[in-house]
Amino acid sequence: MDSTTISTVVQTISSISSLLGTAISARDETKRSEAINAIYTKLTEANGHALQAQSELSNALKRVDELSREIEKHNSWKADIARYRMKDFGDETFAWVLRDDTSDGVPPHKICPTCVSSHKISVLQSEGLNRYAQKRYKCSVCKNEINLGPRGKNHGNQTTATMNYKPDY
Ligand SMILES: [Zn+2]
Repeated sequence: MDSTTISTVVQTISSISSLLGTAISARDETKRSEAINAIYTKLTEANGHALQAQSELSNALKRVDELSREIEKHNSWKADIARYRMKDFGDETFAWVLRDDTSDGVPPHKICPTCVSSHKISVLQSEGLNRYAQKRYKCSVCKNEINLGPRGKNHGNQTTATMNYKPDY
């Protein structure tokens, strides 16, 4: 809320108080009537300023609520991703893996680096080996296919490579 709105309301109320003093102490009926009319005018102004202040306060509270939810979401994400670490599987191929000390009974798994950059945790599903004997994974959320591990010679036959597949966390 804009602080000038509040100070305008305070000034208007102060002005009303002063006019009220004039109206009460005026002996002349014309001066008293002028002071009462001025009070009505100031009351109308004060009401307008108060409504504006109420609107600004409502908007400020909405923004505070939005920011609180963003902070909560961010803190939740930080706690979730802290359970993982990025691992180099060789030849600069990377994925995030569940840390041993934070597994809490959850089986070892890898999560998609593309989804991590969008603050999502998506478990990678194994799809065996590619023809270069790299482990192949697919993200069920973003559908990215990821090859992990050093690239071997071209086997040309995925079935033979898949037979030698051993999970490695
Ligand atoms: Zn993904």
